[in-house]
Formats: sequence, C-alpha cells, structure tokens
Amino acid sequence: MRPLSYSSISTYIECPLKYKLKYIDDLKEKPKPYLSFGSSLHDALQFMYSFRPPPPSLDAVLKYYEENWISEGYANYEEEEGYFSYGKDILRAFYITNIKKFKPPVAVEYKFDIEIEGVPVTGFIDRIDKVDENKAEIIDYKSGKNIFDKSHVEENEQLTMYQLAVEDSVGLSVGKLTLYHLPSQTPVSVGARDPKKIEKLKKKVKEVSENIANGEFPAKKGRFCPCDFPEHCPYYRHLYLKEEEVKKEVTKVNIQKTIEEYSELKEKERELKDKMKVLAEKIHVYCEEKGLARVFGDEHVVTRTTSERKGFDEDKLKELLEPKGLWERLLCYDDALTKELLDSDEIDDTLKNEIRKLEEVKKTIHQLRVRERKEENVNSY
Ligand code: SF4
Repeated sequence: MRPLSYSSISTYIECPLKYKLKYIDDLKEKPKPYLSFGSSLHDALQFMYSFRPPPPSLDAVLKYYEENWISEGYANYEEEEGYFSYGKDILRAFYITNIKKFKPPVAVEYKFDIEIEGVPVTGFIDRIDKVDENKAEIIDYKSGKNIFDKSHVEENEQLTMYQLAVEDSVGLSVGKLTLYHLPSQTPVSVGARDPKKIEKLKKKVKEVSENIANGEFPAKKGRFCPCDFPEHCPYYRHLYLKEEEVKKEVTKVNIQKTIEEYSELKEKERELKDKMKVLAEKIHVYCEEKGLARVFGDEHVVTRTTSERKGFDEDKLKELLEPKGLWERLLCYDDALTKELLDSDEIDDTLKNEIRKLEEVKKTIHQLRVRERKEENVNSY
C-alpha cells in the first residue's frame, strides 16, 4: 500500500470511493485555481526562506513568483490575472511583515516519511523554525480567504501529524504549532499537542489504513459532490451511460418513464401528507379542548397517544456549531444528523459534552392511530 498522507486520509474520510479513484486508480483531478494559486505562493515563500541571511530582496521574491507562476486551472485570462495580482499583494505584505525578523529556518518544504501505528505516512511541512535550542515551531501557510481562530488551530489534525513527523524525524521536540493565514498576514499559534490528540490521530490513521486494506470504498455523498469523477460514482454514473449501454440493460426497465411516474406519486404523497397534517391538527385541538384521548367517527376511531422524547434545541445548537463551521455539516437542522455528529470523530469530547447538554429539551409527540370502527364493543379498541 502506498504511504498515506494527511490529504489522502482526509479524502478517504470525505469519500472512500473518491480516495480509491484518486489514489489507487490514479485518476487525475481537474486543476483548480485555488490549488494553483496556493502552490504559486508556497513556492515563492519556499524561495524566500531558502536563503541564509541576507534574505533575498522583495523584487527577487516577486520575480521568482512571476517566473514560476502556475497558470493551470483558471477559467480565463481575467480570473488568472486577478489571482496573480492578488498573490503579488499577499507576498508584498508578507515580506514587509516578516522581513525584519527573518532568520534561516530549520527546513522549508520538509519532506517526511514516518510510520504511525505501523502505517507509512508521508508529507511536506511548509516551514520549521526553531523556538529555542531544543524546540521547533511548525508553520503551515494557508492561502484560503476564510480566517480561522485558535480553536480551529487547536483541532487541526494536519499540525498534529506534522508534530509527530518533526519529533520522529528531525529530532526536535515541538513547542509551537502555527497556521499562517496569508491573505491577512495572521499567524495563529498554539502549544504542542497533548497525548490525547496524538492518540486520536494515531487511531484515525490506523482505522483508515485498515479500511483501505480491507477494500472498503463505499461512495459517501457530501457537500462537495460531485467530485471530479462523477462517471465512476454510483450517485452520478447514470448520467454518463452511453446509449448502447442503456440498450444492453437486462431489466428492460424504461427508467425515464419509471422515474417520472414515481416522482409524480411522490408529489401526490406530499400533497396528501400536507392535507393530513391539517386534519390531524384539528383532531388534536378537538381532543385537547374536550380532554379526550379517543374520538369516534361514523366508520373509524382515532386514538391519540402522547409521548416525550429527547431532542436538541435548534437555536442553541446553531449558536454553538456555526462559529466552528459545523452547522453546515448538519445541512439543515436534524436530530439524527446531530447524533451522527456526536458519534463521529469530527469533534472533540469538550464540544460533544456541550452539545449533549442541549439535549435536555423534551419534545412532546402526539400521535394519532386510526382503526376501523367496529360494532359498539368498547373493549375492542
Ligand atoms: S461524487 Fe461520488 S465519488 Fe465523488 S465524492 Fe461524491 S460520492 Fe464520492
């Protein structure tokens, strides 16, 4: 098995099938402007920090950027030009902000190959600086627009992996972990990871590696679907079937017609459900007013049951999860998805406990059960 990397592990977690298509079947993703842009900036910063003092001039850094600009993936000349000059502004600001404290780093674009729980793992670290004689600072540049806070850096597992790599292969202990937001020139730093977070990452690496070894590659739909391989995905492949393939179908189902019929019935089902909701509400109100748990029509009997179940307070949950970028993960509010989030590894125990506290809210559920009305034997209900 080829070594894992932070990005391949993230891809597996996002969608195991996408991992297989990209890392095992070697299908190529389409070039993306933000990736080309990020690489162009990273390359220029690598150039800047490859000097022993004196550092290169700003002009030299910008010249390097121009000459090594990656122009893949941009939709048109205007888009590329926009990114190109935005990148120049970022580099200028970076140079002005950092040049006074310029010192040669321990390494730039440091390639590591380590083992985590016996699993080969590889990667590149943007920059490693020395904090003091024995301690290192790991710096990872981020070129995306969204700024992050300390809690994001504390949970960032890429940095956890880099800490393991530096301690394992550079021989320095890590004193500081930094994500550097390039567009705003904001470094956000935290201390070294505690053993609990390291264990969590190790467990994740082991689990992903075992799943890969067991050939588990189910397609997992998510908010970034479709990816670059829709023609290989069971959720999208139908759109790419060629006419001959469709004709060869053994079932001979006229799928287009079947889909439309089914959808029409679904629509009717929705309409019926809406009507039923209104009628149910009337029955509930009537039962409430009269203090009844069962009401009799000419041919049917409706029994009203009341139960309680735990749920989450939607407003408070949103307030808690939105700043952490997790609200979208629930797509829209849903108790089941919230429980799924609680069972996942995506959030730490502190946040899980905070979410669980919001589960105290009780929801009262009233349900109606309909039976045919039998002859007047009251025991039959
Ligand atoms: S389109 Fe299919 S293969 Fe691609 S990420 Fe989505 S579910 Fe996975």
